Amino acid sequence: MLLQKQNVGTVAVIAHQKKSLGGGLDELRRLLADEGVEKLLWYEVPKSKKAPKQVRKALKEGADLVLIWGGDGMVQRCVDALAGSGVTVGVIPAGTANLFAQNLDIPEDLPEAVRIAFHGESRKLDLGMVNGEHFAVMAGVGFDAEMIKDADRGLKDRLGRAAYVWTGLRHIRGELVRMEVKIDGVKWFEGEASCLLLGNVGTITGGIEAFDDARPDDGWLEIGVTTAKGPIQWARVLGQMSAGRSDESPFVRMTRARKISVKLAVPMTYELDGGAKGTVTELKAKVVPGGITIRVPVRKPADSGSGES
Ligand SMILES: [Mg+2]
Repeated sequence: MLLQKQNVGTVAVIAHQKKSLGGGLDELRRLLADEGVEKLLWYEVPKSKKAPKQVRKALKEGADLVLIWGGDGMVQRCVDALAGSGVTVGVIPAGTANLFAQNLDIPEDLPEAVRIAFHGESRKLDLGMVNGEHFAVMAGVGFDAEMIKDADRGLKDRLGRAAYVWTGLRHIRGELVRMEVKIDGVKWFEGEASCLLLGNVGTITGGIEAFDDARPDDGWLEIGVTTAKGPIQWARVLGQMSAGRSDESPFVRMTRARKISVKLAVPMTYELDGGAKGTVTELKAKVVPGGITIRVPVRKPADSGSGES
């Protein structure tokens, strides 16, 4: 190689065995050798739930760079264990849904994702926390993550974001639940709502930019409540989302918060980054500013300071 190999320290791979990208884990090993990795820690897990234990092992072994191989569920489990460690993280988007990577412009391309993990820019990004567990993309109740997976691909190509309007109508649960939402201890919403969303990044399902101005490095979480009920009102919300700004819908109330507490009149299942976590009547959420350090593509000078989507 013409490039002089730099000392890259100890690199740990935390891989979800059932996820793949490019030439798979075999190609990943070759790419890591090309990067001059000498001390490589290799961990594979059969499901993302098993990842945090391996992450803790990697930290104990002194990993300087942790590569996460998997999708949003895997990223969520790993960053929950990595938060606050100061260790740099590279995301290899090998999952079904890779919204975190997508929001950070890390492409679903193995050599390119590895290149970014080693030569990208290290950025401290915020995480959200709900009931003691970190998330990277979004959290909420009343919103069906299955919607992402079920969207008809062909339809999406033809109609773009409008396809999700159609898909969404079939999947949003839509029943109204009485809830009380406090922001920094002050009552912000009380009434019946169908869905409550917290966002760390803007694009929360394939193609839908739910939070138009979200940034994962501003120390704030986006919060949105929808009061839409029935297919006609939902069609209006989703139509607005696909055509323009989410916050222009009469059935959506949105703002920004650091600390959020939610009381639900009936138990609801909450989701973190697309995974169902439990059924609760109370959510305590907050932003964890700069909670994780991620390697992202190097920004061109023209990009810095401008809003990223
Ligand atoms: Mg933010």
